[in-house]
Amino acid sequence: MAAASHNWTQKEILAIYNKPLMELLYEAATVHRLHHNPNTVQVSTLLSVKTGGCPEDCGYCPQAARYHTKIEGNDLMSVTQVKAQALRAKASGSSRVCMGAAWRNVKDGAEFDQVLEMVRTINKLDMEVCCTLGMLTENQAKRLAEAGLYAYNHNLDSSEDYYKEVISTRGFEDRLKTINNVRKTNVTVCSGGIIGMGETEDDRAGMLVALSTLNPQPESVPINALVAVKGTPLEDQKPVSIWEMVRMVATTRIVMPETQVRLSAGRTQMSQEGQALCFFAGANSIFAGDKLLTTPNPDVNEDMELFKLLGLTTQKPFIKKMQPETVEAEDSQFQDLGEKPKWSRPEHTIERNESAKEKAKSLK
Ligand code: SF4
Repeated sequence: MAAASHNWTQKEILAIYNKPLMELLYEAATVHRLHHNPNTVQVSTLLSVKTGGCPEDCGYCPQAARYHTKIEGNDLMSVTQVKAQALRAKASGSSRVCMGAAWRNVKDGAEFDQVLEMVRTINKLDMEVCCTLGMLTENQAKRLAEAGLYAYNHNLDSSEDYYKEVISTRGFEDRLKTINNVRKTNVTVCSGGIIGMGETEDDRAGMLVALSTLNPQPESVPINALVAVKGTPLEDQKPVSIWEMVRMVATTRIVMPETQVRLSAGRTQMSQEGQALCFFAGANSIFAGDKLLTTPNPDVNEDMELFKLLGLTTQKPFIKKMQPETVEAEDSQFQDLGEKPKWSRPEHTIERNESAKEKAKSLK
């Protein structure tokens, strides 16, 4: 049996990924049982609090302003709107709310203050609060922690090598720097990636090396299957097969035994049987709601029917770590520093991103 290790190599991870499937499933399910209740799955709700108009060029993302997609953008939601959505999510079985804003990085000021208030509000509803807001400084991470943030999501997306083929507006090292800033607080780390972007198995293993050698390992790892959206540079990518997804989930479970492995984007393409195999292989979280930021997701009733069929129950919040306390804005020890950090801007060009951008211009 593989023990928890923080020094997995690409070769070792590839060997696990390519094991005969029944052996891989057996090993992953055994690791899963040793570290988690195999009959509970966490239901999280992803809420896009600020949609579209993003200046970045992530090749998979319909929210990048430079591509021609049918996303309707919106300004930052109000705290009241977010509270109403969180209450609805809680009533339908979610124990965690993840708020996403299509920003390159967090900027100090009124909008960040509003997000901090959203964090306070949801934490007071006794739900785990996660945010995904782009790159983050240490002071901003501390302010989020003080407001009661439970987790910060910042995906590595792929291997360091393949990252350069998908995104040119920031570097892989910026991702690691943000994760490191989060680690200077009590906020847990959520970081994973996407398969089906044209990467090789070596890249998949490379991403798992990067994640599993973080010390401590991320408490949460979302595994997404690309949803190819028209107008994005990756619009023509073929969907990944369920077998690739199952292998990826099982390998993630084995190399990061204590992590919550999250079955994320791409679930609409999976059958009930496929999802059941993923749960057996160690996935223990799903995102609920009819949309995942902007892409389709199964209906919450379908999810509950599947849970009933499989005898799964929903996980309560704060199972892995105590609920953080919320400090009110007026009692905060941290100030708005008005920081303007210099995050990297790599110089390289990605041909398919450039052609998608040119095509979008010609359609305007
Ligand atoms: S993934 Fe995030 S950073 Fe990248 S374009 Fe989309 S919203 Fe912007």
